[in-house]
Amino acid sequence: MHISVIGCGYLGAVHAACMAQLGHQVTGFDVDAAKISALQRAEAPFFEPGLPDLLAETMATGRLTFSTDPASVQGAAVHFVCVGTPQAENSNAADMTYVDAAVTALLPHLADGDLVVGKSTVPVGTAERLAEQVTAAQPGATLVWNPEFLREGFAVKDTLHPDRVVYGVPEGAAGESAAAVLDEVYAAPLSEGTPRIVTDYATAQLVKVAANSFLATKISFINAMAELCEATGADVTQLADAIGHDARIGRRFLNAGLGFGGGCLPKDIRAFMARADELGVDQALSFLGEVDAINGRRRERMVTLAEEELGGSVKGRRIAVLGASFKPNSDDVRDSPALDVATKLEELGAQVIMTDPEANANAKARRPQLAFVPSAQDAAEGAELILLLTEWQEFVDLDPEALADLVDTPRILDGRNALDPAAWRAAGWTYRALGRGKH
Ligand code: NAD
Repeated sequence: MHISVIGCGYLGAVHAACMAQLGHQVTGFDVDAAKISALQRAEAPFFEPGLPDLLAETMATGRLTFSTDPASVQGAAVHFVCVGTPQAENSNAADMTYVDAAVTALLPHLADGDLVVGKSTVPVGTAERLAEQVTAAQPGATLVWNPEFLREGFAVKDTLHPDRVVYGVPEGAAGESAAAVLDEVYAAPLSEGTPRIVTDYATAQLVKVAANSFLATKISFINAMAELCEATGADVTQLADAIGHDARIGRRFLNAGLGFGGGCLPKDIRAFMARADELGVDQALSFLGEVDAINGRRRERMVTLAEEELGGSVKGRRIAVLGASFKPNSDDVRDSPALDVATKLEELGAQVIMTDPEANANAKARRPQLAFVPSAQDAAEGAELILLLTEWQEFVDLDPEALADLVDTPRILDGRNALDPAAWRAAGWTYRALGRGKH
């Protein structure tokens, strides 16, 4: 099939490459010339495992091209809208200007029978509004909402082998034929038995924000338990193991630590609350305000712990921060807890030396006042305190004995409960972690 992908960021670039991998003819369009120029050279404009190889492979077949020309989408039968929906500057709501601009630019290029497929995460009601614009411009075109559930770090696998696909379609024949076209697009994953849910627009849009709200709530739940553990001397990791054995609860997403960040969960739960407010059902989601607040308190707690460990103040003290991305296997620093904590420490007068395997450049662009070095060893040199804030495997695998030789004082705060306390203490380190006692 001939497909266009509008917006080639973390979602769109991966989607475009994966659709080409599935055998489709794909044109990726983005307004960001630097991003498109990198993609035209088959270079991934961000870190995503497996994406560089996939780009090289699919572009060599001639099935995948990229352009900054809005007219390049012409001729495609299916247009995936993958542009950003960040938090608005002055409110919790989603900033819809990119989606609106993308759809407006697409309208003149639509042909009879085309499908416009929304993948961006949007406030419920958006699809209904855009559908009117699409049919007004081209009565033979149909809008579908097909939310995306990929995880950065696993984006290629998640796109090629999704755990479910959701189609929000209009009622009647138009909806049925739209679902049939999407079945053709996703023929390969569907043939693997991927569950497929065909529903209305509102449900499809809500599925995505409901899923992210649940995940955020699960993380904040265990982090609330961490606050209780800190107040009582209990151990949140053992508590999570114990409750996680209950299959109704499950152990995944129950890792206490510095909490969630990134370009999705924080802005999605806030936009969901803002939308519920508009719909007059704000009480239904008021708990998400607490989920957000618990998440924010973990960052403050990390700063307090650093102050405590350094005798009350971080001013003038050399602190190594391991990790800048919001999670391992990504270079995404949007709303990154690690970057947030590092920034607060620097504001309090600490000398912060940061390192991340992939996100140094992105973090430096946002926080030029922080110092960045290539490796954990460089960061540890002369440090009075180390903070592990993003659990990259290479940090988890650090040798506490070798690292102890580099630092000024062997003192570490584990913001992700990712290290083995016994091994670090045996190597002479003072080890503390969020949600766990001193010993
Ligand atoms: P992103 O910022 O990485 O990418 C958005 C891209 O859209 C950018 O490259 C930007 O230049 C481009 N763009 C903006 N306006 C445009 C226009 N008018 N025409 C063409 N391109 C335009 O964002 P992202 O992380 O890829 O997220 C995109 C959407 O997907 C968001 O709604 C997000 O919530 C959702 N989503 C993201 C993920 C994820 O893991 N990143 C997962 C699921 C859903």
